[in-house]
Amino acid sequence: MDELTLNNGQKIPQLGLGVFLVQDATDLKRSVADALKDGYRHFDTAAIYHNEAWVGEALAESDVKREDLFITSKVWDSNTTYDETIAAFKESLKKLQTDYLDLYLIHWPSEGYTEKWRAMEDLYNDGKIKSIGVSNFEKPHLDKLLASAKVKPAVDQIETHPYFQQKELHDYLTSLNIAHEAWGPLGQGKSGVMEDATLKQIADAHKKSVAQVILRWHLQRNIIVIPKSIHAERIAQNIDVFDFKLSDDEMNAIAGIDKNRRGSEDPNDEEWLKKSLSMN
Ligand code: NAD
Repeated sequence: MDELTLNNGQKIPQLGLGVFLVQDATDLKRSVADALKDGYRHFDTAAIYHNEAWVGEALAESDVKREDLFITSKVWDSNTTYDETIAAFKESLKKLQTDYLDLYLIHWPSEGYTEKWRAMEDLYNDGKIKSIGVSNFEKPHLDKLLASAKVKPAVDQIETHPYFQQKELHDYLTSLNIAHEAWGPLGQGKSGVMEDATLKQIADAHKKSVAQVILRWHLQRNIIVIPKSIHAERIAQNIDVFDFKLSDDEMNAIAGIDKNRRGSEDPNDEEWLKKSLSMN
């Protein structure tokens, strides 16, 4: 498993398992167990997924040591103050059955994110979180945060796939030395990207699947990926991407299929950010 070094010196496995929308305890625990068996050590959850406790159970039941795992969670938007952020973090720790997180993210740039960041910085300085970061932050959100931040975010987790490549934001994150982490790396099974002819051709040439080519493309862009699946064979397939390399021509061909088409909520949509405050 390849690792990236974050801007604070911490290492992150470049590929992990996402668990968004897994609402069944049995499915989730089985998929985490399958993933561990296949070599995954990085798991991405969030308070709003309502499955942290099952992730915690599955990890506690495995014989992999805590220090060999990389666990990410995210503080949800309804927590707008310093105290609420600290309380939300403690709740996530309890559910995940651990006394620290490897990465904790502000889920969306909604109301109060600079105050939330102060709480995250204190948790980080207390050693309760190895790295802190943000999610769904665009340039203006990053600039506003950086104006008062004492700790620079290590990661920005943003929607990214071949039909929404985020070239500009990727370059901005790179210039700031903030790691780009892709959510929805496979287009969430709804973007049409899995049927793309260019990707199919490249996949055939390497005797790999389209999903594997997409994941490989992310890795070669220095992006962290957290594909989600609850199916054993797909979980195994998604981590089997370290034995081949896309050529420069193939990377360029994939760069050319970008449609700049977002598939999910838009962090610039103030209505959505407002609505998220009352979701729980
Ligand atoms: P994804 O791009 O990982 O797509 C998952 C879907 O792709 C699956 O449901 C399945 O239909 C399909 N799939 C997976 N492996 C496949 C394979 N090998 N072959 C064919 N199809 C395959 O989408 P996602 O789950 O939304 O994103 C990944 C993770 O990112 C989430 O689970 C979650 O942890 C995180 N996430 C974060 C945010 C955020 O706001 N920060 C938002 C969404 C997701």
